[in-house]
Amino acid sequence: MRLVLLGPPGSGKGTQAARLQKHFRIPHISTGDLLRAEVAAGTPLGLKAKEVMDRGELVSDEILLGMLEARLSQEDVVKGFILDGYPRNLVQAAALEELLNKINQPLDAVVQLEVDADSLNKRIAMRSAVQGRTDDNPDSVRKRLEVFRESTAPVSGFYEARGKLALVNGIGTLDKVTDDIQSAIDSVKPPESD
Ligand code: ADP
Repeated sequence: MRLVLLGPPGSGKGTQAARLQKHFRIPHISTGDLLRAEVAAGTPLGLKAKEVMDRGELVSDEILLGMLEARLSQEDVVKGFILDGYPRNLVQAAALEELLNKINQPLDAVVQLEVDADSLNKRIAMRSAVQGRTDDNPDSVRKRLEVFRESTAPVSGFYEARGKLALVNGIGTLDKVTDDIQSAIDSVKPPESD
């Protein structure tokens, strides 16, 4: 199963990806987590990325593609993956498609979690209190939502045109959303893939 989760910041991609990872027994690849690991390790890439992330802007497409290529070449992705946080714009969507075509492992489904703006703001405020992420401050959150609307929202059309997009309501209990994601995957996934 090769799956992309789309949705604005706070829509629950990370939470749901962690649940799906257990169900499908495939790795959850979060580009936000990969970047935060670089920041925590103090690598040159991490130092460069931190400021951009704290402002709520997108880290460069080149850095992301390099990181993703390295991650997708690891052995644990042979059975598939759940990608969370990538692609975030059309350039990244095209790069991912090319990369996966090259290794003959196209996506099975793209699930977009839909959550209204009010709920997003409330969820991020709660997460900020619990996790203390330095980019969960009001200015950065506003910027991330704007980047989502301008750069990431068009990615849905890219996958819709390929018959891979399914929309799921991200409001509801964790179990209900997980169930709805699984049904959504079944509705677009080619029957022969696992
Ligand atoms: P959220 O979905 O709450 O914004 P993420 O953990 O997915 O959180 O991402 C945090 C930050 O990491 C983003 O605001 C951005 O700066 C950077 N980032 C993550 N994924 C990408 C990507 N695909 N392209 C560019 N920047 C990214």
